[in-house]
Amino acid sequence: METAAAAEFTRAYGRPPAGVWAAPGRVNLIGEHTDYNDGFVLPMALHRQVVVAAAPAAGRSTVRSRQQADVAEFRAVSVEPADVAGWAAYVAGVAWALRSDGYAVPDADFLVDSDIPVGAGLSSSAALGCAVARAMIDLAELEVHGTELALLVRRAENDFVGAPTGLMDQLASIHGRTGHVVFVDTRSLVVEQVPFVPAAHGLTLLVADTRARHQLVDGQYAQRRQTCRSAARALGVPALRDVPMDDLEEAVRRLPGQTMRRRLRHVVTENARVLDVVSVLRSGRDLRAIGPVLSASHASLRDDFEVTVPQLDVAVDSALAAGAYGARMTGGGFGGSIIALLDSRRRDEVVTAVENAFQRCGFDPPATFTAAASPGARRLS
Ligand code: ADP
Ligand code: MG
Repeated sequence: METAAAAEFTRAYGRPPAGVWAAPGRVNLIGEHTDYNDGFVLPMALHRQVVVAAAPAAGRSTVRSRQQADVAEFRAVSVEPADVAGWAAYVAGVAWALRSDGYAVPDADFLVDSDIPVGAGLSSSAALGCAVARAMIDLAELEVHGTELALLVRRAENDFVGAPTGLMDQLASIHGRTGHVVFVDTRSLVVEQVPFVPAAHGLTLLVADTRARHQLVDGQYAQRRQTCRSAARALGVPALRDVPMDDLEEAVRRLPGQTMRRRLRHVVTENARVLDVVSVLRSGRDLRAIGPVLSASHASLRDDFEVTVPQLDVAVDSALAAGAYGARMTGGGFGGSIIALLDSRRRDEVVTAVENAFQRCGFDPPATFTAAASPGARRLS
């Protein structure tokens, strides 16, 4: 992809790029809808990535993507949220966010390429933002790294694009490391890379994109965030993270209405499940032990947080019935992908089982691949 992006850049702009940068998509191993509740998340960066070829330009920035027909232009010194629509807002938004943090951002030409399916819950948007940010920062010779960079990319997505996302996707795309998951306390923003090598246990982490497309910009995600905020206020805590597992039943009783109660139950139990999984990974125990925890997360997202759709439930159920040790939806829900932990020897059987179940239900065929924990955003050349 690196070579193709550079060649396409040269063809489109009539000169070679000054460099090529990449940032990965992610799957979340566990910790869903916890990031905006100050809780814990455990994503891993994928080998699927966005690649950006770029070079300085005079007077204006131009953005092209091999996956999108429309070409957009903006001026880095003056661009504002109303100026850029569509996918190019993810690029212009980074220039805007850098500028509003006081950094001087020169204009540049960009050529984007990617093998992350869009809207599959694998975070193509954060990968795009992080790859562009790395490119802009290197071209401008700035020193912005790690979590500061992730925060900046999230601000571009929240305040320029207008998509209300938490910080998990950007942190995973920045802090990813080969053979590790990224454990984040989203309150303190302390990040720890924890070893996760399923192959060392004869296991595969399978990803199945259900092809049911989510739309984060629509109301459901914002509504979940709002309900969580209201529940925290009703309980008199800064965030739902502050409700300890031992106080859950009492807190549930204090909340008005079944919806708020179910949302609280998910967030509190999900935070506990993240810590369970982390302790298994740290202990070096057999990874099969996390299987039931993954499946419990899915049940909670289905029954208490109500963010699954039939495709996600059918994919999880059919993977489990075919012998997976655990399976869950990953990402925000309302479509997107599932992950399943299974014996590598059973991979084909599980894939076939999910495909057959989809066919029986009349769903579009799922797209499956094996997840490999990969490095975070970086310069390729
Ligand atoms: P995801 O779960 O994939 O992050 P989002 O809806 O958050 O889904 O982001 C998808 C959006 O990101 C696309 O609609 C597009 O605007 C942008 N995007 C992602 N990948 C590309 C790409 N390769 N080229 C151009 N835009 C992209
Ligand atoms: Mg996204």
